[in-house]
Amino acid sequence: MPDLPHFIGGEFVAAGPTFANHDPLTGLRTGGVHEADAGTVDRAVEAARRAAPGWARTPAAERAGLLRRVADELERRFDDLVAAEVGDTGKPVSQARELDVPRGAANFRTFAELAANQPGQVFETVTAAGERALNYTLRKPLGVVAIIVPWNLPFLLATWKIAPALACGNTVIVKPSEETPSSVTLLAEIMRDVGLPDGVFNVVHGFGPGSAGQYLTEHPGVDAITFTGESRTGTAIMRSAARRVKPVSFELGGKNAGLVFADADLDQAVEGAVRSVFTNGGQVCLCTERLYVERPVFEEFAARLAERAAALPYARAGETDRKGVTMMPMISAGHRDKVLSYYELARSEGATTLAGGGVPEFGDERDGGYFVEPTVFTGLPPAARLNREEVFGPVCHIAPFDTEEEAVRLANDSEYGLAATVWTSNLDRAHRVGASLEAGIVWVNCWFLRDLRTPFGGVKLSGIGREGGEHSLAFYSEPTTVCVKL
Ligand code: NAD
Repeated sequence: MPDLPHFIGGEFVAAGPTFANHDPLTGLRTGGVHEADAGTVDRAVEAARRAAPGWARTPAAERAGLLRRVADELERRFDDLVAAEVGDTGKPVSQARELDVPRGAANFRTFAELAANQPGQVFETVTAAGERALNYTLRKPLGVVAIIVPWNLPFLLATWKIAPALACGNTVIVKPSEETPSSVTLLAEIMRDVGLPDGVFNVVHGFGPGSAGQYLTEHPGVDAITFTGESRTGTAIMRSAARRVKPVSFELGGKNAGLVFADADLDQAVEGAVRSVFTNGGQVCLCTERLYVERPVFEEFAARLAERAAALPYARAGETDRKGVTMMPMISAGHRDKVLSYYELARSEGATTLAGGGVPEFGDERDGGYFVEPTVFTGLPPAARLNREEVFGPVCHIAPFDTEEEAVRLANDSEYGLAATVWTSNLDRAHRVGASLEAGIVWVNCWFLRDLRTPFGGVKLSGIGREGGEHSLAFYSEPTTVCVKL
């Protein structure tokens, strides 16, 4: 397979040295990827700037029509996209088929619809002297938007930003994660095939600091930055954006709490916890890493969760029909080592291991892959590092609580505030706790149930701003108020 190129001004560009891409299931090299230097990023920004006025002038309905065709084409190339996503991440084929790729198409359809039907605001103003004026707002694109995304749900997260940015009339430069370059490169082919004008959609590959990510976010020709990734990286990007006061939208890390009340349907809560802790190998920003369980059901819940964790099947190459949670590998050797270092840290902090804690052995090619065991710890105080830092792996700590007030306090005792989950059959409690939790989204008796029209984002270290529905349109466009004296 040829080394993955950039996509600039409607052409694939094989510029710069290459770095290796690996299959996390086996650790084997699957191909190379070109790394953009500052000159290549300049080219991409120039192409996006050249295309910006024409795309901004294109009627919203016409842009929406093109984006609907992108969604159709995604469905036509469904299997290729699934293969690209699975090859880069080692995720189960069934998950890519049911979640990652369909969500890509849904992102394009949803934002095409919303942007084409976006209302403006009108105010009639009466002055003290009895004069009248009509104020109305026009929404305009920001210009060139840099989109920097992580590796955990590469296609879903990239299209979540690409679709509204394009629908609002911006041109974009996407930098996918160095770990997962394939699906966005395939999307470039799709953009070309549906006839998106040259330069409207561009892709550059590379790393963060001292590479494509940094060159892009520091580039004076970029008008706004939308980023999903670690909170620490958000800090670095915000620093470069500050110089030119560029708008930023940040979807960052989490240390999400799950609260299980004794009145919950325990079967549902255990299965919900299995999903929320272990889906995607725990590598979803929304995954639960801290579980608090009301004391009367704590022992039973902990035992059942540990039993389910220990019995989870592991992903294997080519498997297409697996249902339920399947343990996938960590994205890289480096990330596996980071997760294992947290397992070690938890033990050194005094944790009791209820399940996992090590590396599975397969006796096949997966022994070269980046797997870790799904793991459940207990026995640590709230101040332990395992309870405070985002691990981003298949692991949770489980602790008992006695009152609703204590549960809310424990859940909110975090620098992060992305998502929280509540398991209860008490309706009053569900609303009360839902309103008290410091999180961008609170799920009650469910997890990762998303409506793309709702605001999505985090509080505290988990982000700045909201995307989703009208909130995406608000970020990716700017209002101009026109005041006409009547
Ligand atoms: P990361 O921050 O290491 O990298 C994300 C992207 O930023 C990559 O493309 C990377 O190359 C680039 N990058 C890194 N340093 C950069 C710099 N200095 N300047 C410009 N670009 C830079 O994150 P990751 O390890 O890829 O992803 C995991 C993290 O993402 C976790 O913290 C997770 O919680 C978070 N995440 C958040 C959400 C959300 O919606 N809130 C969703 C998914 C993942």
